[in-house]
Amino acid sequence: MARKAGEADSSAKASGDAALFARLGVRREQDLVLHLPIRYEDETRISTIASVRSGETVQVEGVVARQEIVARPRRTLVVELRDETGAIALRFFHFYGSQLRQFAAGNRVRVLGEARGGLFGLEMVHPRYRLVDAGEPLPQALTPVYPTVSGLGQARLRAAILRALRGLDWRETVPADAIARLGLPASAEALRAIHQPAPDTPASALHERTTPAWRRVIFDELLAQQLSLKRARAARAGQLAPALADDSLARRLLEALPFSLTGAQRRAWREIGRELAATQPMNRLLQGDVGSGKTVIAALAAAQAIGSGWQTAMMAPTEILAEQHLRKIGPWLARIGVRIAWLSGSLKESEKKAVRARAAAGEVDMLIGTHALIEDTVAFARLGLAIVDEQHRFGVAQRLALRAKLEASAAVLPHQLMMSATPIPRTLAMSYYADLDVSVIDELPPGRKPVRTKLVSEARRDEVIARVRAAAAAGRQVYWVCPLIEESEALDLQTAIDTHAALVQELAPLRVGLVHGRLPPGDKQTAMADFASGALQVLVATTVVEVGVDVPNATLMVIEHAERFGLAQLHQLRGRVGRGAGESVCVLMYRGPLSAAARERLKTMYETSDGFEIARRDLIQRGPGEFLGARQSGEALLRFADLERDNDLLDAAREVAARLLREDPARVDEHLQRWFGGREEFLRA
Ligand code: ADP
Ligand code: MG
Repeated sequence: MARKAGEADSSAKASGDAALFARLGVRREQDLVLHLPIRYEDETRISTIASVRSGETVQVEGVVARQEIVARPRRTLVVELRDETGAIALRFFHFYGSQLRQFAAGNRVRVLGEARGGLFGLEMVHPRYRLVDAGEPLPQALTPVYPTVSGLGQARLRAAILRALRGLDWRETVPADAIARLGLPASAEALRAIHQPAPDTPASALHERTTPAWRRVIFDELLAQQLSLKRARAARAGQLAPALADDSLARRLLEALPFSLTGAQRRAWREIGRELAATQPMNRLLQGDVGSGKTVIAALAAAQAIGSGWQTAMMAPTEILAEQHLRKIGPWLARIGVRIAWLSGSLKESEKKAVRARAAAGEVDMLIGTHALIEDTVAFARLGLAIVDEQHRFGVAQRLALRAKLEASAAVLPHQLMMSATPIPRTLAMSYYADLDVSVIDELPPGRKPVRTKLVSEARRDEVIARVRAAAAAGRQVYWVCPLIEESEALDLQTAIDTHAALVQELAPLRVGLVHGRLPPGDKQTAMADFASGALQVLVATTVVEVGVDVPNATLMVIEHAERFGLAQLHQLRGRVGRGAGESVCVLMYRGPLSAAARERLKTMYETSDGFEIARRDLIQRGPGEFLGARQSGEALLRFADLERDNDLLDAAREVAARLLREDPARVDEHLQRWFGGREEFLRA
């Protein structure tokens, strides 16, 4: 693709190049054109060496005065470059023989890099450089810098992109009047302006991607996303689902519940119940803050499916949570005659086999478990409803697997109900989740008291211990959460084990339990059950208690090294308390010095307990890719758009998408091909 003419080993080189380009997501000529700069560098000016200040990124030009290879502290090539005003040292820690020749004394070199005050005056480490003749003209405009992989230099990448751009036959896919209304340039023109910005383009607008050219390309990206999602929705609407219309069992469950639904729950249940009864497959997200009572809605949905003669699968992201559902919903449903089974990775193979056989024979009405439910070997006789709890915790790949499973499951498509306590900000809901209907539970069950949050330095651990004792003396229970040590699961575990041992001593005679992800399932279950029954007063845990665990008598949560947790995680953890009538406290214990980001997170937790607000700030702090867990899939969902910054374009993209789908399906195909090629699947997951 980026082959130079006349290279002897051109075919080998070309296939090597193709692999390099493929790693960038560039497989076709048009992908090259859409490979956009991450930033720009200013090569339009040359600074005199004497005027350069430490910390500045600048371009200078001079003549090599001398070169030297120094051995200490590590083998380094040092080049002294001089102009009329002074000298600067260039340092290279890795270098080739060819570079020694390039930096022969007397050669004229133009370099661009960040200047630093070194031991012996100004220096640049691994600057970009180029041999030039005296008086060689400067570029008139900023130079784009592209994302790349090692082995593929900027110069080669840029040349390939410019070549593709010159050969570009870029048909406009958006109606001219829509573009005119937005005041944006044509797509081809915009791409040229991004790759080769005009000299008078303001650098800040280029960097912030707010030039008309950038906005046009971002609009196209958002449009592609909207088109893809709307098509997926239309495709689903064309499929048939079983009408789960018999609500007698659900009504019996409702009567048997120890509480009555909140207004918000009733509303959500009405929406869901109605949709289950229709022959169009439901694809609904039930969203409600931590503790708002989503589980009972899931149980009602299951009862309606089962009462209508179909099976239900309910999947949770962790074994502890799945087990808790089994314990909580299990008795409710068993009482009304539902046959429940359990499936998780930790079961013995023979046990799994038996459960699978019963599900396949239709002898199980409801199967609860972990992602073991979406393994290939699991088949259902009549799956009518799939429930996914804490759906944001599942990776894109798992969501794809679930969808594939549902689509393959039968002539009819099962209904899908997803649940999440991580509220999706409006911008995200409109873009990534445009394919979903959303029900919101925006009200907590009565009698809940807000959780007070305290930030406490680790130095005041003694006070925290005293607080734990006081809570226990008042008949309350306590969670003590140990941090995740990302580099090592073993270390992570050891921390929890050590903390537990220490707390058993410090808190004696209180009964202190331990639960972590590696505990054998039986032990885990016992520990959770002992905590739930009050036999344990303190539960030391890793983040396995993060999602869904429900022990109303626990009113104090201590989170050690809170600075290491993400916002969503902290919010989830805090949601484990404040579930009963007692006043609850969450102690975020931290060790300084705090990074700016950690400080910001703790501050957010201190300032608000509103899940929406937390999600909004989380999104700003982390960006949508990470927010949605797209990291795991390695596929960036939106490469250029920023939903906060480009909010207005998202609205416009939605409108234009609807219109294009109506008026010009061929252009829709072309637009989607251009943007996603083979990657569209990921967007719909
Ligand atoms: P989440 O939405 O976080 O999954 P849960 O479904 O676990 O919340 O519910 C939290 C707790 O509130 C549970 O103990 C549940 O039984 C209880 N609960 C749910 N709905 C109500 C209600 N309407 N009135 C009283 N308690 C309720
Ligand atoms: Mg829950």
